[in-house]
Amino acid sequence: MSEKLHLDSSNRVLKLSKNVTKNRPLSQEEKNLPENRLLDTRRGKDALAMKDNNLFDIAVIGGGPAGMMAAGRAAELGAKVVLIEKNETLGKKLLITGKGRCNFTHNEFDIRKFAEKFGRNGRFLYGALAQFGVREVIDFFESRGVKGKVEQGNRIFPEEGNAQDILNVLIKYLTEGKVNILLNSEVNGFKQEKEKISQVLLRDRKITADKFIICPGGKSYPQTGSTGEGYRWVEQLGHTVIPPIPALNPVKTSEKWVKELQGLSLKNVSLQLFQNGKKQDERFGEMLFTHFGVSGPIVMEMSKNIGALLKNGPLKLILDLKPALDFKKLDKRIQRDFEKFKGRMFKNSLIGLLPLSMISVIIKLSGIEPEKQVDHLTRDERNKLVHLLKELELTPTGLLGFKWSVVTSGGVALKEVNSNTMGSKKVENLYFAGEILDLDGPSGGYNLQECWSTGYLAGENAAANML
Ligand SMILES: Cc1cc2nc3c(=O)[nH]c(=O)nc-3n(C[C@H](O)[C@H](O)[C@H](O)COP(=O)(O)OP(=O)(O)OC[C@H]3O[C@@H](n4cnc5c(N)ncnc54)[C@H](O)[C@@H]3O)c2cc1C
Repeated sequence: MSEKLHLDSSNRVLKLSKNVTKNRPLSQEEKNLPENRLLDTRRGKDALAMKDNNLFDIAVIGGGPAGMMAAGRAAELGAKVVLIEKNETLGKKLLITGKGRCNFTHNEFDIRKFAEKFGRNGRFLYGALAQFGVREVIDFFESRGVKGKVEQGNRIFPEEGNAQDILNVLIKYLTEGKVNILLNSEVNGFKQEKEKISQVLLRDRKITADKFIICPGGKSYPQTGSTGEGYRWVEQLGHTVIPPIPALNPVKTSEKWVKELQGLSLKNVSLQLFQNGKKQDERFGEMLFTHFGVSGPIVMEMSKNIGALLKNGPLKLILDLKPALDFKKLDKRIQRDFEKFKGRMFKNSLIGLLPLSMISVIIKLSGIEPEKQVDHLTRDERNKLVHLLKELELTPTGLLGFKWSVVTSGGVALKEVNSNTMGSKKVENLYFAGEILDLDGPSGGYNLQECWSTGYLAGENAAANML
C-alpha cells in the first residue's frame, strides 16, 4: 500500500493531501502566537523562553484535540500550563478529519443515546457529556466564530471553513490562556515519587508540574504522531491498558474480483457477518470496494468485530445488494426486467439491476453464458442470479491495520479513571483525555466529541483542585 493513501471520515481511501500533513505553512493564528509561547525547539527559541520557567501548574502531553482542549480549559481557569507536542505543529490529525472539513460533533443531544454508540464503555462518558456535551461544544466553537452545520447522517461540520478553522479556534483559546506550547518535544516518560508524578521527561529536559494530563492519542494513523507510546508510560505508572486494536478500519478480503470493483460505492445495502454459520453482526448503509477488499461506513463499523472474531476462526460476509426485496420479489423483478429485454443478450439485461461496473463481475460469478438470450435463461440460472444479488459472499482475511484505522479501540482501563473528573484512581496528580482512554465510537463526529468532553473535564478538574 502506498504511503499516500488515507481514509477520510467517510471512510474512503484517498490520497493523503500533503499540505495538511507535511510542511504545512503555519496559519495566521499559529504565526500570531507570541514568541515565548510558541516554543520551537528546532529554532532554539525555547531555551531563552523557558530559562527560569520549567515549573508549571499543569503539564499536558499531546497537542491533539483532547490535549488542546484540556490545556485551554485549565489555563482559562488561571493555571500556568505547558502543552507538550512532539510534532512541529499542533493538531496534525485534527486537520485531516472529515476529509479536512472536520466533522467535529454529532447532532445528538441525548446523553444516553450519544454514549450508547460507544458500546458498553459508553456509560463512562455520562459525566463528561453532562458537563461539556454536544450543545456546549457547538456553543464553544460558535462563540469563537465557527458555526456548526448539520449535514447528512447528523454529522456536524463547520458551516463555512474547515478543520483549520477549528484548529485556529483552539490555538486562540491556548493563546488567550497564555499556555506555553512546546513543539518538536517528544515525551519519553515520567518521574514518579511516592503516589505522585513529579516530572515529565523529554529527551533534553525535565519539566516539573503539579498535575499532568496525558493525551497522546491511540495507535491509529501513526503518521500523524499518535504512535502509541502513551500506553507504555501508562502501564509504568501502574495503570492497566486494554490491548489496543484498530477500529473503524478497512477490511481485506480473499476474493480477487473485488479489485475490479475498486472505487465502487454502494448505498442502502445490507451486510451480515457470520462465523460457523452463526450471525455475529449486521449493518445497513453505505460501503465501498477497494483494491484490497471492502471499506465504507458499514464495513468500518463492523471492523472491530471482524478483527476480534478472526482470532477464533474464519468468517464470512454476506452482502445483500437488494435488501428492500425478499428472494421472491427480487425474482419477480428480474423476470419483469428480462421480459423487457426479451431477445437481448444476458450481459445487456442487467442495467436496471446493478451498477455498471458490477455487471461483468456478477455475470462471471453466476457462471451464466453472457451472450445467452435473456429469455432463454433457465429457472436455475435465474435463481443463481437472485442468490448472488441477495447473498454475495466475501471472505475477510484481516484488517488493514493501525496505519489506516480511524480510531483505536482499547487503552487506559476506564475502571481506573474517575469518570466525573478524568482523574486517575492510581496516581494522585494524573488525568487522562481523548483516544488514549478505552473508548471508541463510530464515525460521525462521536470521537472528536469524546475528546472535547474528556479534555475539557480533565483541564477543569486538574486546575480546579489546585486553585
Ligand atoms: C483520517 C481520519 C479522519 C477522522 N475524522 C474524524 C471526524 O471527522 N470526526 C471525528 O469525530 N473523528 C474523526 N477522526 C478521529 C479523531 O481524529 C480522533 O479521535 C482524535 O484526533 C483523537 O484526539 P486525541 O487528542 O486523543 O489524539 P491525537 O489527535 O492523536 O493527538 C495526540 C497528539 O499527541 C502527540 N503525541 C503522541 N505521543 C507523544 C509523545 N511521546 N510526546 C509528545 N507528544 C506526543 C501526537 O503527536 C498528537 O499530536 C478521524 C481520524 C482519522 C485518522
